[in-house]
Amino acid sequence: MTDTDKDILRISEIFGPTIQGEGALIGRPTVFVRTGGCDYRCGWCDTMYAVDSKYRAQWKPMTFKDVMGKVRELSSDKPMLVTLSGGNPAIQNLEPLIRLGQVSGYQFAMETQGSVAQDWFSDLDFLTLSPKPPSSGMETDWGKFDDCLAAAAGKPATSMKIVVFDEVDYDYACDAAVRYPDLPLYLQPCNPVGDNETECDRVTIDERLRWLAEKVTNDNNLNAFVLPQLHVMIWGNKRGV
Ligand code: SF4
Repeated sequence: MTDTDKDILRISEIFGPTIQGEGALIGRPTVFVRTGGCDYRCGWCDTMYAVDSKYRAQWKPMTFKDVMGKVRELSSDKPMLVTLSGGNPAIQNLEPLIRLGQVSGYQFAMETQGSVAQDWFSDLDFLTLSPKPPSSGMETDWGKFDDCLAAAAGKPATSMKIVVFDEVDYDYACDAAVRYPDLPLYLQPCNPVGDNETECDRVTIDERLRWLAEKVTNDNNLNAFVLPQLHVMIWGNKRGV
């Protein structure tokens, strides 16, 4: 059998095992599969190398079998959590990869902004929906977000994660919490990083984290978790960790 075009995935990078640095699975060992391409252009995106088509030449065409082979190699064949990230991983068909890995005991988590729904969301073990607040420069289509939840059909453990840069973003997060009261909500401060930058401004990040923690702890109307980006605390904005 030959691999057809529909079997080819655009992959920006595969790395790990490392720890999940964000959201509901923070601290959990995982291998990352970062796909190339995104339908958004967030102003503070920290993975533009997996978004902008000017980096397309760096994205490797791989079959889902090759991707799973690399995951197996990195994890020494020990089944573990695989995190599908991007870019927006939802714009490619990852169903065959998920199915292939799950047969061998791997679990799959995916993070997406909730702009593109796919039937295979219900095959995931974990789904993080990460709508982008006003500071990103993007506008959320809540109808498409609802489509993503419908596609998941309550099967993966689903949570919402929102980056908060300022008061306007905080209000957006509060509105999202009201809209989706059953989704656990994780908030994290913005990590400003420019194209190709690897250094991070720890003082600014720490200040924003304190500001956000104080906002949430003094807010009787919002039920949310406040988390840092754990991988940034450990490794800064270095790629591939
Ligand atoms: S949705 Fe995510 S990957 Fe896409 S541009 Fe925004 S921050 Fe970057």
